[in-house]
Amino acid sequence: MKAVKALSCSICGGRSIYFKRYSGEALCEKCFKKDVVNRVRRTISRYDLLKPYDRIMVAVSGGKDSLALLKILYEIEQDFPQAKLFAALINEGIGEDYREESEKIAEQICSDLGVPFYTLSFEEAFGFTLREAVESGAAKKLGVNPCTICGVLRRKALVLAARRLNATVIATAHTLDDVVQTYLLNLLKGEGNIKPVGLRRENGYVIPRVAPLRLVPEHEIALYAYLEKIPFQTKTCPYTHTSMRDRVRTFLNWYAAHRPEALYAFLNNFERMLPKPGTENRCEICGEPTSRRICRACELELAIRNYLRRS
Ligand code: SF4
Ligand code: ZN
Ligand code: ZN
Repeated sequence: MKAVKALSCSICGGRSIYFKRYSGEALCEKCFKKDVVNRVRRTISRYDLLKPYDRIMVAVSGGKDSLALLKILYEIEQDFPQAKLFAALINEGIGEDYREESEKIAEQICSDLGVPFYTLSFEEAFGFTLREAVESGAAKKLGVNPCTICGVLRRKALVLAARRLNATVIATAHTLDDVVQTYLLNLLKGEGNIKPVGLRRENGYVIPRVAPLRLVPEHEIALYAYLEKIPFQTKTCPYTHTSMRDRVRTFLNWYAAHRPEALYAFLNNFERMLPKPGTENRCEICGEPTSRRICRACELELAIRNYLRRS
């Protein structure tokens, strides 16, 4: 048997724990964590994602990505004392203590960091839980799966929470993988008007959503979360199913295993081709941008509420 010698850290010469295939660098634990934080710092300044006086609401789910984002932003924001950082978690009312477990994890990390933590439930925001929407038969009747209701209404609930908390920006934990998956899914759906994902767009009435992790691959965030000892959730959502996004993710992972720089190449080339966003239509009910008269979130919310009232 041959002993495999660990590579030395390309920065400090210490014992490496990670090899960045797309750049050829080996990094020790300390340099790896610093590298992730610095990349997020550079991403924020390259795309002008955050301003020094922002009230930043971090959308946390209790999962590793969002809690890693919170820790990273907490570190970066130490240099911007005028900025305010807080976290908000949406409890969809999934049942089986799924969200309650993640809520506990998120609350603990926020309390360790001294970051204010808020929650808003579907029940409070819309008058029904995700479980009621599914078990009443509303989801089936409307021809949508639980994840569609969950994703679309969670996004709307985050905007409601951000308005109540006077946030000037919402930070989400979309990683490089998530952003590329979203672009590819939009292309596959034949979406005509693809918008930049996770980049700050100011238009006076919408609270901008930014993705400071958009240049960090998901597996690096997972490693960062592990090294930072962020607890992992043990419960699985009872509605988890294989979606088109999972298939796109599998394909991209396979492709990136052969060409490690592929996700960066896609992101850069694709965003160069995106047209500058023009004026957008606004939903007649909630005022959020939409290509329709009433946005998908308001449409779903109303349809589920009507179904529950009649049944
Ligand atoms: Fe929501 Fe689906 Fe995720 Fe469950 S698996 S939390 S229903 S999006
Ligand atoms: Zn090092
Ligand atoms: Zn709307």
